[in-house]
Amino acid sequence: MIVVRRKPIDEILKMVGRHTRVMLVGCNTCAAVSLAGGQKEVDTLIELLSLAASRKGFSVEFSDAILERQCEPEFIEKLDSQGYDAILSLGCGAGVATLAGDNDKPVYPALDTLFIGSAQGFASWQAECSACGSCVLGETCGICPTTRCAKGILNGPCGGVKDGTCELGDRPCAWVEIYDRLESLGRIDDFGKTMPAKDNSISARCCEWDMTKEGDDS
Ligand code: SF4
Ligand code: SF4
Repeated sequence: MIVVRRKPIDEILKMVGRHTRVMLVGCNTCAAVSLAGGQKEVDTLIELLSLAASRKGFSVEFSDAILERQCEPEFIEKLDSQGYDAILSLGCGAGVATLAGDNDKPVYPALDTLFIGSAQGFASWQAECSACGSCVLGETCGICPTTRCAKGILNGPCGGVKDGTCELGDRPCAWVEIYDRLESLGRIDDFGKTMPAKDNSISARCCEWDMTKEGDDS
C-alpha cells in the first residue's frame, strides 16, 4: 500500500490559513490504513488546526468528508464541496492530484507520501517499492535495491557496509539482506552477477498507462 504521514500543523496552516471555509477530505483506503487519513485523523486534524488557527488570529471554519478512494473519479464525484473555498486532502499525492484536477478551488496536501510499503506490525511499515517501472525483484529475491539500498545501487554492496549495516543510517544493508536471502534459497551463485543499468526513462515515460490498450504479447 501507499504509506503516508501527516505534515506538521504549521505547514498545513500556512496553506489553508488564508481561507475562510476549508473542507478536510479523508481517504478510506491507504491513507486510513496508514493511520493518517481516516475519519479519526480528520477529526483530530480539525481540532488541531482550529486551535492553531485561533492562536494565530485566523478565522477559518473547518468541516469534514471521507471518500472511499480519492484517486478514483467515481468516488470524487460524490463530494459536495459547494460553499467551501478550499479543500485540504488527507490522501496520498495521487488523491490530491485527482481532487485538484476535478475542482475549481485550491486543493492542498495535508500528508506527505513516503513510499509503497508492507505492514510490519501496528502502525509500522517497511518501504518495498519506488515504482521504477522496471522490476528486478526476481534477481534479488524480493528485496528492492532501488528502494531499500540507501544509494539505490543495483550491484552492491558498496564499500560503506559495516557489520551488515549501511553507512548512511541505522538500516541494515539491503545488499547484505539480498545475499542472505539468495544463500538461504540456494541461489548464492546468482550473487555478483552484474545487473545492467535500468532504463530510467520507463518510469518517466509512464506518466499514463491504459491497460486496455496493451497488446497481448503472450
Ligand atoms: S525494482 Fe522497481 S518496481 Fe521492483 S520493487 Fe524496486 S522500485 Fe518497485
Ligand atoms: S551500505 Fe548497503 S544499503 Fe548502504 S548504500 Fe551501501 S550497498 Fe546500499
